[in-house]
Amino acid sequence: MLKLPGLIDPHVHVREPGQTHKEDWDTATQAALAGGITMLLAMPNTKPPIFDASTLDLTLAAAKSKARCDYAQFLGAGPDNAETAANLAPRTAGLKMYLDSTFGELRLDDMTLWTQHFEQFPKEYPIVVHSESRSMAAAILFAALYDRPVHIAHISLKEEVLLIKAAKERGLKVTCEVCPHHLFLTSPSPLTPLPWGEGNHVANHPSPFGRGQGEGRMEVRPRLATQDDVNTLWANLDVIDCFATDHAPHTLEEKDSEEPPPGFPGVETILPLLLTAVSESRHRTRRVLTIPDIIEKMHTNPKRIFNLPDQPETWVEVDENASYEIRAADLHSRCGWTPFEGWQVKGRVTRVVLRGKEAYKDGKVLAKKGFGKNVRADGGASHLV
Ligand SMILES: [Zn+2]
Repeated sequence: MLKLPGLIDPHVHVREPGQTHKEDWDTATQAALAGGITMLLAMPNTKPPIFDASTLDLTLAAAKSKARCDYAQFLGAGPDNAETAANLAPRTAGLKMYLDSTFGELRLDDMTLWTQHFEQFPKEYPIVVHSESRSMAAAILFAALYDRPVHIAHISLKEEVLLIKAAKERGLKVTCEVCPHHLFLTSPSPLTPLPWGEGNHVANHPSPFGRGQGEGRMEVRPRLATQDDVNTLWANLDVIDCFATDHAPHTLEEKDSEEPPPGFPGVETILPLLLTAVSESRHRTRRVLTIPDIIEKMHTNPKRIFNLPDQPETWVEVDENASYEIRAADLHSRCGWTPFEGWQVKGRVTRVVLRGKEAYKDGKVLAKKGFGKNVRADGGASHLV
């Protein structure tokens, strides 16, 4: 039996408020516990987006009554909420800035809007940026200009990891995360560069998931990249601070529709995928991935980067030798599918203890709704059981 500390996922789309047919605080936190994740940080691009006190209260009220693992909620940076966001910072996981894509109210069309947030958001709370390719370089420049840390979400490209490596070597305060799908899946077709401004430059491509499945199932942002990109990520694991899922559930009906929304579920599959990679690494002469890497990138580093508290008496038990097939039918997410359907993996979460209570055991979530605690200021000791 392998014992790991409670894992922290700093990038989860819980979908509540507004899209609870895909997921909600109950199902997202059940899935997280089943995946060995005892604390998650929730993204703000819900419906409505979380960008002021009333929307923050809305999602935190739902979380308080439904969450089964611990959590904090990001606030979204909008064109005119820099002061509000700065004031709310202690109640949030941090500030999320969408620098490439437009997400309703969370539009940051020009860099003068970035300036207000970099100037005003308190330095002790993290700024996380969705910034691909060259806009990532701009975000790193802002970190340098304002001498404050910035965390780059879901890097996927060779050029991104190499630029972050160079920035770190110069002492810039930049950290980053990589998602399992960008480590384990590739785009199978030739790539077509898009003009600057359209985000990640990987064009539409056919499905890698076999015949009869819609191409929409592989829609994700950032898009799946080339084998060369994937190899470069693996070769630069030391540059990567965190593994995060970007758990972004959509129903199969939506994924197979004419306009498939981008995103994959991920909280229940990240650990088995990484443990399988560790197991495969043991057969190679060159170091690739180790258990200490997983602990560093899914516990130690996110805890430090996002300034998160200890979870006392919290751990995850894993049967390292259990070999099995990933099947959506066994998962807890409401979305009902996984891009890793049928993958053979080695390493199963058997038990999760959260703050001294058995929260998950042998396929069953035991933590009750509302057991999850907000780890930011207003979570308070009253949530402790
Ligand atoms: Zn995301």
